Amino acid sequence: MSFSFWEKEILIGKIDYGIIGCGIVGLNTAINLKLKKPGARVVIFERGFLPNGASTRNAGFACIGSVSELLSDIQIMGEDAVFELVERRYLGLEKLKKRCGEGEIQYEGLGGFEIFGTQDGHNKDQCFEAMEEFNKKLFSITKTEKTYEKLDTKNAFMGMLGIQGAIKNTVEGQINTGQMMERLLKIAKDMGVIIFFGIDIRKIINYNEPRLVLADDEMISVRNLILCTNGFAKDLMPELEVIPARNQVWVTKPISGLKIKGSFHYLEGYYYFRNVGERLLIGGGRHLDKEGETTAEQGETAIIQDGLKDMVENIILPGISYQVEYKWSGIMGLGPTKKPIIKAIEGRTFVAVRMGGMGVAIGSLVAEEVADLVLSYD
Ligand SMILES: Cc1cc2nc3c(=O)[nH]c(=O)nc-3n(C[C@H](O)[C@H](O)[C@H](O)COP(=O)(O)OP(=O)(O)OC[C@H]3O[C@@H](n4cnc5c(N)ncnc54)[C@H](O)[C@@H]3O)c2cc1C
Repeated sequence: MSFSFWEKEILIGKIDYGIIGCGIVGLNTAINLKLKKPGARVVIFERGFLPNGASTRNAGFACIGSVSELLSDIQIMGEDAVFELVERRYLGLEKLKKRCGEGEIQYEGLGGFEIFGTQDGHNKDQCFEAMEEFNKKLFSITKTEKTYEKLDTKNAFMGMLGIQGAIKNTVEGQINTGQMMERLLKIAKDMGVIIFFGIDIRKIINYNEPRLVLADDEMISVRNLILCTNGFAKDLMPELEVIPARNQVWVTKPISGLKIKGSFHYLEGYYYFRNVGERLLIGGGRHLDKEGETTAEQGETAIIQDGLKDMVENIILPGISYQVEYKWSGIMGLGPTKKPIIKAIEGRTFVAVRMGGMGVAIGSLVAEEVADLVLSYD
């Protein structure tokens, strides 16, 4: 199929900034470009009929990092880089809340909880030891002396079984992911950002004068191109160091009297769960089959589903009957470090990918940084 004169000249038109991917990063990048260049034609290309990357499929934790996560990241990235990243997550969340409105995205500052079971006693002691020092380092970011707080878990902690200790992150909270995306879509559309849904970009030709190849080999030219496809980045740019990581998620039917309130990390964050009103959301278990979950294909597997069931029945809701109402998967973009990739590739092509599983937190800031980078080349 070829485009008609009208389609090519008017409906597609001359695109100043073309963005591939309509997630948190793509939408915020478009909004930031429109804020600085209101007259520019900003177009997002999205292959789903809705945005269907991680941004509509995540857990909605507004988090900056648990103690065990920071300890493990320090081993890989070093202390300075880790605290810089924590600051960027914090700033990203502030920007998200400011842009969307806390009420509109149902932000609840219930706190983030890292809980330790019988399996990770050693880890627990290390975390308790590190807490004090981390609190001092984080003061300049969070402006509170007790970002992390040790909790008494002697009595069944929020109804859970076998919890040997817990650390509360007092500045963390949770959002309604669906509301956040609806809000960002509305802001972008109201500002005149054009979104073409159902358009799968197959290839990018010529990074200096970018042309996007569609499924039927038809092409669209853009003056500047920004790739915001996170976990799917390698499909279009195999040279990028981004590893897709699938996560499987459940949401139960409402459970009357659910005691879980807040966002929880267990086993160094490999399992995470929260309340969504009176429902329980749980995801993760990737450590059970890292190889199998290193994929950009959506899907469910018995090993992970069994892991989620085990967590719910033996730790989170012991003896409580529940029914799973929703099951889905989502794809994160990971890499050798958790630092996002924000760069100019060549000429007029840019990337903002690899959110390290924390794009709700850092995504709005990454989008601002890439928009500024693009404009600095104009
Ligand atoms: C299960 C799960 C739970 C998570 N929980 C949290 C959390 O609690 N807190 C947190 O901070 N982060 C969380 N994350 C991570 C967070 O959701 C992501 O980091 C963030 O959404 C990434 O946003 P993005 O815009 O970069 O990418 P995405 O939202 O993945 O958007 C990329 C878009 O690009 C589109 N696309 C890809 N290839 C093409 C192509 N060739 N042509 C056209 N379109 C294309 C996709 O359809 C997709 O819509 C979670 C992720 C998952 C999967």
